Amino acid sequence: MTEPLLSIQDLRTYFHTSAGVARSVDGVSFDVGAGEMLGIVGESGCGKSVTALSILRLIQPPGRIEPGSHIIFEGKDLATVSEEDIRGVRGNRISMIFQEPMSALNPVFNVGDQVAEVARIHEGLSKKAAFARAVETLALTGIPAPAERAKEYPHQLSGGMRQRVLIAMALMMKPALIIADEPTTALDVTIQAQILDLLRDLQSRFNTSVLMITHDLGVIAETTSRVIVMYAGEVVEESPVEGLFAAAHHPYTEGLMHAMPQIGHERDRLNVIPGTVPAPTDWPHGCRFRDRCPYSWELCGRDHPPLYQIGVGHVSRCHLAIEPERRNHPHPPLVVQQGVAVA
Ligand code: SF4
Repeated sequence: MTEPLLSIQDLRTYFHTSAGVARSVDGVSFDVGAGEMLGIVGESGCGKSVTALSILRLIQPPGRIEPGSHIIFEGKDLATVSEEDIRGVRGNRISMIFQEPMSALNPVFNVGDQVAEVARIHEGLSKKAAFARAVETLALTGIPAPAERAKEYPHQLSGGMRQRVLIAMALMMKPALIIADEPTTALDVTIQAQILDLLRDLQSRFNTSVLMITHDLGVIAETTSRVIVMYAGEVVEESPVEGLFAAAHHPYTEGLMHAMPQIGHERDRLNVIPGTVPAPTDWPHGCRFRDRCPYSWELCGRDHPPLYQIGVGHVSRCHLAIEPERRNHPHPPLVVQQGVAVA
């Protein structure tokens, strides 16, 4: 990859609470290339949304980005730039699409004014010029009759239309990077597909980089070219998407794959990964997945696995890389043996 657009290096975002220090993001590193669509996948509590909020410095106390973390974007370290500098980046060079369009929009302003506001803040455009730009941008997102729709209020639009308004807001300043945090979770399936198509189309037309954050491997398969799997505050696997679907290496990724609904495979129940993500105040010693893993052995409880190289651009934080034959002898995960959770 040439010089990345965004380079996250050893990002640690901790929440200093009365119950202890929650290490929600704990030493995460990855790059996003110019024009690339990169996916981050993982279940709730794995740290993917905190990673996204950290990039834009939207973490509120008692959370903070720890010293030694780096978020290099267009030559600046966003982890340490001034408040004024980060305000110049947010909504301008990097914008974010949130998962719940109704709560992300202000119910008392029409949507055109809300989209226009972005250009007024960052470019100082007049109200009229900004509104005209908002209508053009709403048209780009496929909203029919954008001039009329711009005068409507959020409650007058469907969920899919509201999500298009948020995408227009994110596009107003032609950002270099869009962070889309579960952008289709609140939508029904047909609208989801339309919104993903729209994001892909806009990304290729404007060569915008997109960081797609989702719990859904189906969304990853449809939209991204490279994927990062997060678990318990860490990257546990990183791979080109095709490589991951052809041969996932980390047992957690394997579990996510098995949990996907399969067309044509009638089953009484979906497969689930037993147990839950451990508490971020108390990550287990050694491998953080070991209580839920069907292959764990003594080394996994003793040594925290590094990211092992598996193939070209493919790394996995799992000791099976050095003892692959153990994959032939799965056993019930510890949480099942202890009766804490059963698949
Ligand atoms: Fe399972 Fe051990 Fe690999 Fe962790 S390191 S995922 S416990 S096999």
